[in-house]
Amino acid sequence: MADPEPSGRGGGLRSLPGVVLTPSGWVHGQVDFTERILAVHGGPVHGPGDAQVILPGFVDLHVHGGGGADFMDAAGAVDTVARHHALHGTTSLLATTVSAPFVDLERAVTEVGPRLRLRAPGCARVLGVHLEGPFLNAGKLGAQPDAVRPGTLEEVQSLDALARVRIVTLAPELPGHLDLVRELARARIAVQVGHTLASYDEALSALQAGARGFTHLFNCMSGIEQRAPGAVAAALAHAEHAEIIPDLVAVHPGAIRAALRAIPRLHFVTDACAASGMPDGPLTIFGKLVEKKNGAVRRADGTLSGTPLTMDQALRNLVSIGIPLAEAGRHVSTFAADYLGLFDRGRIAAGAWADLVVLSPTLELEAVYVEGERIER
Ligand SMILES: [Zn+2]
Repeated sequence: MADPEPSGRGGGLRSLPGVVLTPSGWVHGQVDFTERILAVHGGPVHGPGDAQVILPGFVDLHVHGGGGADFMDAAGAVDTVARHHALHGTTSLLATTVSAPFVDLERAVTEVGPRLRLRAPGCARVLGVHLEGPFLNAGKLGAQPDAVRPGTLEEVQSLDALARVRIVTLAPELPGHLDLVRELARARIAVQVGHTLASYDEALSALQAGARGFTHLFNCMSGIEQRAPGAVAAALAHAEHAEIIPDLVAVHPGAIRAALRAIPRLHFVTDACAASGMPDGPLTIFGKLVEKKNGAVRRADGTLSGTPLTMDQALRNLVSIGIPLAEAGRHVSTFAADYLGLFDRGRIAAGAWADLVVLSPTLELEAVYVEGERIER
């Protein structure tokens, strides 16, 4: 797959003043950019104080939907979702599937393909696809449709030919899946352990076979029992990377703090569904009737069905539980970009794409730039 084309919408030279989060810490000064960042001028400071804050644009590697649309939907959904999340500071994301028959996955991924090259105006950059299913354990579906089955490299490759697959979430304990982990790792596709009943040893074997991360850590995976420590303990003991949902509903703040201590390059994701950005009330998600209420999306039986989260709220949630802004800012941008090997995103440094969010001192979003384009409401 070719590199993304510049959109030509970055305009000319711009400068933004503020307290800027750079790879070496806070700088009080200004960022100069066109489609790429040209320079950061200024001097080091301890923190933003009551100045305008400029952070790297948010990088969300687990997004199903938003603004009423879902990547599994028909034509037009990709732009609706990418637009909704751009309005909340997400400058790049992975279009995430759910378990479905191959033809439905093929249709969804076919919609995504053209957008990897040409970003639509006012939208976040779609970096590729996260296949979250169907290679999952039927015993840990969560809100996933019951269309799970063991996977093959051929199936992933035929989807990858339509739109670059960057992450595959799978349950390593399914038949043939350790071999699949090895094959995907060789194909440089990141494998994440998720929707799994794997024992500690099975999850560890997956890491040894080349799996790199864990999908929504703590949710939909075997938890920690003292003599049966499960996938969660394998992640905390061994993983370099994992994603986790900071809506403060799916995962308790204490579990987030434990994960941050154990997995220093943890990245935060929204796992947002179509209900993100929609008013409270009933709606259909992943083919089931759900209700959005009190910051959560649930089925009648109480099962969480994705989240209504956006990344700007994720950042505020992290700061609200005591995580310093500089640290929170990197966990919602830099570490996700690094995980995918995209070292020219997720950081405010000369040469990187001009993906920027501007926040008030109280962390309300004031402006968003995707590849230099100001996202207008
Ligand atoms: Zn998901």
